This record gives sequence, C-alpha cells and structure tokens, in this order.
Amino acid sequence: MKHIPYRIHLSENEIPRQWYNVRADMKEQHAPYINPATMKPAEPQDLLPVFSQEVCMQEMNITDRFIDIPDEIMEYYKMYRPSPLCRAYNLEKALGTPARIYYKFEGNNTSGSHKLNTAAAQAYYAKKQGMKSLTTETGAGQWGTALAMACAHFDLDLTVFMVKISFEQKPYRKAVIETFGADIIPSPSNTTEIGRKMLADDPDSTGSLGTAISEAIELAVKSKDCRYTLGSVLNHVLLHQSVIGLESKLAMEKIDEYPDIVIGCAGGGSNMGGLMGAFMSDKLLGKKNPYFIAVEPSSCPTMTRGKYTYDFCDTGRITPLAEMYTLGCDFKPSAIHAGGLRYHGMSPTLSKLYHDGYLDEARAVGQKSVFEAATLFSKTETILPAPESSHAIRAAIDEALKCKETGEAKTILFGLSGTGYFDMSAYMQYQKDEMVDYIPTDEDLARSISKLPKVPGYVEK
Ligand SMILES: *Cc1c(COP(=O)(O)O)cnc(C)c1O
Repeated sequence: MKHIPYRIHLSENEIPRQWYNVRADMKEQHAPYINPATMKPAEPQDLLPVFSQEVCMQEMNITDRFIDIPDEIMEYYKMYRPSPLCRAYNLEKALGTPARIYYKFEGNNTSGSHKLNTAAAQAYYAKKQGMKSLTTETGAGQWGTALAMACAHFDLDLTVFMVKISFEQKPYRKAVIETFGADIIPSPSNTTEIGRKMLADDPDSTGSLGTAISEAIELAVKSKDCRYTLGSVLNHVLLHQSVIGLESKLAMEKIDEYPDIVIGCAGGGSNMGGLMGAFMSDKLLGKKNPYFIAVEPSSCPTMTRGKYTYDFCDTGRITPLAEMYTLGCDFKPSAIHAGGLRYHGMSPTLSKLYHDGYLDEARAVGQKSVFEAATLFSKTETILPAPESSHAIRAAIDEALKCKETGEAKTILFGLSGTGYFDMSAYMQYQKDEMVDYIPTDEDLARSISKLPKVPGYVEK
C-alpha cells in the first residue's frame, strides 16, 4: 500500500463549489415544522420575518441535491479551507490498534470550530438581502465568535446575547467577539421585553440559552433590516456544514480510502450532519454502507434516552415546533457538565435518519472518559481538542480498541469539530480529579418529557 501522509491536503481549487442537501436523497422527510400560534404546518412566510430569505428557502428545500456556493462565500472559505484531513498515526500507535484512524479538523480558524462554515453563509445572505444587522445568542461562545468574524467581513452589525453565567466565566470570549466589532450583551438583559420580564421574576438569574434565543429573536423582529441567525439544528445549517463531508470524501478518495465507520459528536447535530452528508448519500443511494455513530454526553442523552416527537426548539417556547429527538424543552442539563452539547433537542434531519436506521448508532459517554480521551489525543496528535469534539474522540478510540481485539484493520473517520482553548477550567477540573459524571435519572427525564407540547392529530412513530 502506498504511503499515506499525516495530513492529506486538498488545494484551494478543490473546495466543493456546491453544498450537498441530504434531504433530496431521503425517501421520507421529518414532519413539517408547526407554527405554535396556529398549530398548522409553518409556511416559509412564517419564517421570513425571523431569518433571511435565502436561508428560509434552503430550510424548506427537499428537491435540490446540490446548491451552488456563491462566489463571495467561496472567497471567504478560501481563507481557512480546505480544512486538513489527518491520519492519526501517533494515536494509532499509542493504542496499538490495526485500525486506520482519520480525523477532519475544523478548528483551524479563530472561532475554533466548524461554525464559521454556516456563519459566513448566513451573514452573506443577510447582506445580499439588504440587511444591516444580525442578532444571535451564544452559550459557550464559539457560535458568537464565528458570527462576529463573518459579520466583520460582510460589514453587518451584530448583537450577541450571551448566557450570563458563561459571559461572566469566559471574559476572553467577550474580548474576541468585541475585537471583531460585535456587541455582546449578557442575557437576561434589560434591552428586551422578555429579558426585563425574566429579570423582574429573578433579578439574579444567570440566564439560559432559551432566554438568550428569545431575546435575540425579539430584537431581530423589532429592528429594521435585521434578522436572527441560529448556529446549529436547522436544515440550512446542516446544508452549509456539508462542506466538511464533501472535502473529507474527496481527500480520502485521493488515498484510496473509504470509512467503515464515521463518528461525530452531536449537540444540535450540525457538525455530525455535515461530516456525515456525503457518505450518507452513498448509503441512501445503496452504493456503500458505512456505519455512522453520533456521540452525545450521558448528562444530556437526547438520542439515546429522549423521545421522538414534536417539541419547541427553545426553552422560551416561541420557536416553531419540530419533530425530533428531545428531552423536553424544559430539560436543564446539569451545570456540572463541562463541555457544550447541552441542547435538549436534535437536528430534525439527523433525528429522522436515526429514527429510520440510516444513522446506525447513538452513543452516550460520560465526561470523565471524554477528558481522558482528550488528554491522550492532545499528547499524541498535538491538538488541544474541544470538550465537544472529544466525545467523538472517545468513540473513535473505543472503536479502534475493538479492532485491536478482533484484529480487524477498519478505517475510522471522525470529526474533530474544534479546539478547546477556552475550556481550560474543565481541563483543570479533570486534572485535579474534581470532575464528576452526571447521569439524569429516568424520573428527571420523565419530568421534562411529560411537559412536551401536544400537536393535534400527530401520531408518534
Ligand atoms: C457548537 C459545537 C458543537 C456542537 O454543535 P453541533 O451542531 O452538534 O455540531 C460541537 N463541537 C464544537 C467545537 C462546537 O463549537
């Protein structure tokens, strides 16, 4: 077999010129979004005051397999793409596995994650439509950073509502976001009606992603020439993230490889959906049969222990209802969990693929074993991984160790969605042996699941 380099590089000209829309190859779609005001299927018009127009069209598109990436976005992608596909030679050696492990590294930009792929697209489309500003929320801060970078490039104002507790714990995130010219407001704030109401109820509230989403949407809808943006979960976000999988597939073709196993971490499902897309296409069309694993934290076990039904996408219960795996929008993941991936729901498309058996496996892992994997990975591969991404590393290591037992030389591909420089307090907790695993009880889950909204006429599948 010919020598495979440590990093399989593509050239600038090999960045895909089109995104891949997996929904066009799916035989069945998730049930339509429901407008909570009417309890009827949402129309594109319902979304238009909230999201930019092109993004609404992409959200509903189930017919076009490929969608052209506009030149302006291509030019932006060229500043940090193609992202490297790496062969984890040193990790393989440390594990003593016959498996060949590859990872697609999306942390090679200042946002430190894959989120820039959709931030650039969403900022461009808003600008093209004549918008002057955008709003969004951010929890851990990666999405706020990515969008601030994209807005600086496309000359849009941006207001980021950051969950107050993270805002206070991660002062450097604020500094980065402000460097790129965005405004950042700790949420709940007194700048919106919803925020003022939350503060009146609880002046010491440390905030939640749900409240931050509600504030960001309120500001977008009330401002002239302003739209809201979301960094995960939705179909258009998965579409923009499909560059990850398309590039991976092309790079693997160059070295005559094809993954037996594809692994990604899943919070809202966008990096997993993006990495998986091009390979899922082969599976849906009956050409190949890779095994897909989505990895989630055992503290927020959306796919492994959640319910497949309609739920709100936010805690504030103002978004449309989506059919997806969910723990209930009132579910509050434990604060002692260190990484991201703390979302109650899951991308409707990823959920549907899992429900129908195309996404083969969802796996929940505890955070201590995740940081153990992160530590081994940093030492062997020289990259400090994000806690989120380290969920995928955990599963990749476990699959490679299975190969060691059976002697099978499987090809494993996993998504290294980002870097962990802003998560050092979690690394320190792990090093001091102060990290604990938290697994919600069945009663905990039943409580939030019992409060799920009811859609008239909907029969659970
Ligand atoms: C946001 C984020 C995630 C989780 O979001 P998905 O939509 O599930 O991809 C994973 N990894 C990193 C580095 C992130 O920033």
